[in-house]
Amino acid sequence: MLLKSVQFILIGAIGLAGSGLAQSPSTWKIHDMKRPHPAVVMPGQPDRLAAPPSDAVILFDGKDLSQWSTAQGEPAKWKVENGSMVAVKGSGNVQTKSGWGDVQLHIEWAAPTLEQDQGQDRGNSGVYLMGLYEVQVLDSYQSQTYADGQAAGIYGQFPPLVNASRPPGEWQSYDIVFRRPRFDGGGSLLRPARLTVLHNGILVQDNVALWGPTNWLEYDPYNAHPDKLPLLLQDHGSPVRFRNIWLRELPEPVELGPPAGSAEKVIALAPNLLDRYVGRYEVSPGRYFTITREGEKLFANFYGARRFEIVAHSEREFSMTRSGVDLKFDLGSDGQAQSFVFHIGGRQEVAKRVALE
Ligand code: MG
Repeated sequence: MLLKSVQFILIGAIGLAGSGLAQSPSTWKIHDMKRPHPAVVMPGQPDRLAAPPSDAVILFDGKDLSQWSTAQGEPAKWKVENGSMVAVKGSGNVQTKSGWGDVQLHIEWAAPTLEQDQGQDRGNSGVYLMGLYEVQVLDSYQSQTYADGQAAGIYGQFPPLVNASRPPGEWQSYDIVFRRPRFDGGGSLLRPARLTVLHNGILVQDNVALWGPTNWLEYDPYNAHPDKLPLLLQDHGSPVRFRNIWLRELPEPVELGPPAGSAEKVIALAPNLLDRYVGRYEVSPGRYFTITREGEKLFANFYGARRFEIVAHSEREFSMTRSGVDLKFDLGSDGQAQSFVFHIGGRQEVAKRVALE
């Protein structure tokens, strides 16, 4: 019996890994009406339309749909009206002609005012990063639906932290930071997609890791896909309007540390050689720098603050092991350090030896 349950757990674990799930799905069921609804927060009113930054790729500036097409690559069939692009019922989704990976995306939208429908049929559209990962667009102003399907929800996965919706007819904004999923050469998931979303300037998704592409009623596992795919806007039958759509492509995520092999070479100096640097150095009246040795290590103490290990790159050049501080010594004819020049945060100073310790 025990063996059987162990087998079951193992099979369960393998199944989970094989499905590409980034983490355990929520303990809530998808679209569970019992899932708590985010608190309502009224956003402040923007005083004017935000202009794109200088490096933005403009996807819609109010004039035409030249950046957009149908899924089949035909001209997009949405309307351009009063500086907005408007979803036309039954015309299908629209997507950018170009593909995108990691992006910062700004998009503004307004739900229709005359919508009679409720819940998911009230001002429904969607911003699909890579055509797969939906940030829900919905009229969620005084209108309830399941929490993981309301405005600014990651559809079917994550409700927004709060409901920052404006009334239908008013312009609302999403500012989205999207990190695409990473797959290895064999197509296995290395890192899930991540989304951060501000709705009307209010944080509603905080770097959440998606379980896979968003879907209705079910979890879709990740399937390896290209690094760049079109941004898609959904035709869900509601005449939702969009404007001021731009994005910035993001560089690869910052990794910890410099590239392998870029570290400066460290040389080992024998204790008797290290003793040549030990002493008290004056930077300016009353400001001292002390260098001490412990075994085969040298330590520098700034102005009586904590001490930092320094390592040698040559007989004259040293640096702190964990900080961007370097020291260049002047050695006398006897080999003893006389002074050193150090750089800290772009500032250069000179410390002159005043006494041996
Ligand atoms: Mg939608």
